[in-house]
Amino acid sequence: MSDCTACGVLPPSGLKSLWGLSDPDLRLCAVCGDWFTWTSAAPNAELTRIARTTALVMEELLSGTVRPREAVEQAVALVEPTLFAALIDHLKDDALAPLLEHFVAWLPTASGPLATALGQRLATAVRSPRFNAALGTLLGAAPSSPRSLHLLGMGLEASKGPGQRPATPLSADEVADFWALGVSLEANLVPDPEWARAVAESRVQEVSSYSSMGTAETGWVRCSSATTRKSECAVVPPGATAEHTSFSDMADDRDTIAVCWQPFWNTQVAVALGHVKGSLKRYVLAECARQLGALERSWPHEGEHEDTRQRLVGWLDDVTLTSEELEGELAAVKQVSLVHLVRGVRARWLKHDCNAAVAAVLMSAERGKRDFWGHGNTELEAAVRMELLRFIVRLVRQ
Ligand SMILES: [Zn+2]
Repeated sequence: MSDCTACGVLPPSGLKSLWGLSDPDLRLCAVCGDWFTWTSAAPNAELTRIARTTALVMEELLSGTVRPREAVEQAVALVEPTLFAALIDHLKDDALAPLLEHFVAWLPTASGPLATALGQRLATAVRSPRFNAALGTLLGAAPSSPRSLHLLGMGLEASKGPGQRPATPLSADEVADFWALGVSLEANLVPDPEWARAVAESRVQEVSSYSSMGTAETGWVRCSSATTRKSECAVVPPGATAEHTSFSDMADDRDTIAVCWQPFWNTQVAVALGHVKGSLKRYVLAECARQLGALERSWPHEGEHEDTRQRLVGWLDDVTLTSEELEGELAAVKQVSLVHLVRGVRARWLKHDCNAAVAAVLMSAERGKRDFWGHGNTELEAAVRMELLRFIVRLVRQ
């Protein structure tokens, strides 16, 4: 133990925060170099000194230096599992890199909070361009647990670019997961047996748009025929009733996307995100950043603001600036064509706002030639939205 006179009398706020979190956090005494865990959860707000040997092992892991195998083994022996789990959760990409192989080897036998943290950190890694290929190889060589296989599945999926997957129906299990969370689906993603059930149970709504006496009449109507074109329909979960617009409430507007689909899509995202709480937010933010980055890299480079654009794309993955510095940099970007990137970076690192993060990805996907109504590439937008929804549903249900 330390005989430091500073940290004995300092309030917890006087210690340097290593994670910038409230609960739990790692705190450092700048005088003696001792580490503390700080838990603010009332009524047991608590500052606990970490033994020197333990702190050294943790520092080694967090800084990504030397002897990864020994460091992991020592950490398992020395660091209390919940604290170690939090540490795994907060490993930066640079610190994760040398540990990747050991984490994969450890994955099948880990248990408790460590297994959860390990699985979630690797799930984020497998979806990042930096680790995707390496993890695919490592997991492919050792798929010895359901967890590894699950990650491998995510990895193979992540290696495809966003929106490249055809709009084929989801599996029955996946549809059941959407239903369990109360998230509706476009009908062309629902397999036929469930589609027939949904029609019988008044769970199908169809876009209706026609002219009457010189005005347009557009809205959702409940649909009772299984021969209706699926591409014009949406299905709501069991227990819910499909939307039905009465004649007097129909919109005088032929823009079926604005009248019917956009509100439907907004609700899908809002309902799904409603289930994303606490630490799950980080994974959604990371996935949105990954998808936004992939979309940007697939987009032809536009010349004029290319430097700024690339800087923003880089910040989606990692930022070394302080919050104040980053906000200053973002506020200085005025180009309309970069608004979605500014929004994406701010959502991930400053606001921790999943709604804004999803909106930024969809804005990027939808860019392109505008149609008569002013809609861009709604097809790519729909494909990307569905990827995000599937990710969120898997994350919440796992
Ligand atoms: Zn001290």
